[in-house]
Amino acid sequence: MRFVVSAGVVALALSGPLARSGVAQQQQPDWNAVQIRTVALGPGLYVLFGQGGNIGLSVGEDGAFVIDDQFAPLSEKILAAIRALTPKPVRFVVNTHWHGDHTGGNENFGKAGALIVAHENVRRRMNPAQFKDVVGRSQQAPAVALPVVTFGSDVTFHWNGETIVARHVPNSHTDGDAIIQFVGADVIHLGDTFFNGRYPFIDLQSGGSLEGMIASSSRVLAMMGPQTRLIPGHGEVAGARELTAFRDMLVRVRDLIAPLVARGMTEDEVVAAKPTAELDPIWGSASERFVRSVVQSLTRR
Ligand SMILES: [Zn+2]
Repeated sequence: MRFVVSAGVVALALSGPLARSGVAQQQQPDWNAVQIRTVALGPGLYVLFGQGGNIGLSVGEDGAFVIDDQFAPLSEKILAAIRALTPKPVRFVVNTHWHGDHTGGNENFGKAGALIVAHENVRRRMNPAQFKDVVGRSQQAPAVALPVVTFGSDVTFHWNGETIVARHVPNSHTDGDAIIQFVGADVIHLGDTFFNGRYPFIDLQSGGSLEGMIASSSRVLAMMGPQTRLIPGHGEVAGARELTAFRDMLVRVRDLIAPLVARGMTEDEVVAAKPTAELDPIWGSASERFVRSVVQSLTRR
């Protein structure tokens, strides 16, 4: 089976908050150069790294179960990586949130017969024609790319011998984030509520918030056991140490910036004060966008 990839889908994938975020202000990726790297996390459980959000994959007798599907031009390569592990079809795609680097393959996998599942706000944000109140996406996703099953607080899959629980975490990276736990394997996919080792993108226009990201990180840390492994939306597989560092960094940035905001400094003045200077050597020099989003998050009603 081959996927048909239209240029329009690529444009859609790159027109969302990625473009705003600067992630895709670089040249459009050379899709041909992208390699899909597969890392095993346990029997029948894998993470696939390519270009875009990290993909979780469960394979077994029931069929393939996929978390996020990166960009449409990569669908064929992603499918080839799945085919290397199982002859069974992709039956479910669960989206951690609506961004194009996590849902760009929905159209292809949906056409191929997968059921797409996500929090209800993911469907809303991919479907602005139907939900006029939703801000954040300039183009309508095709009907086949939309989630066909949506949930509010949580949903549980009994699949491939696993118990897989998707839980909504409110107003973190967006307003539609799900963290997805493989109970037996003791693995949690955090989507973009966790950027491992770097400053996150907080999509305020899609309902994200600094406080929500701190809260979702703390919630996952409270859920974890000593052996729990974490799949971040971006970056390598991690554990409690890395998520604790990420959460503590977010708290530290809040505590550094909140007093400046309370003093009445403007967003530009806060940026000029370089409040994250002590953290930038560890978390990355591209902190201006992050600082701006923190100021906006702290000052928003
Ligand atoms: Zn995202």
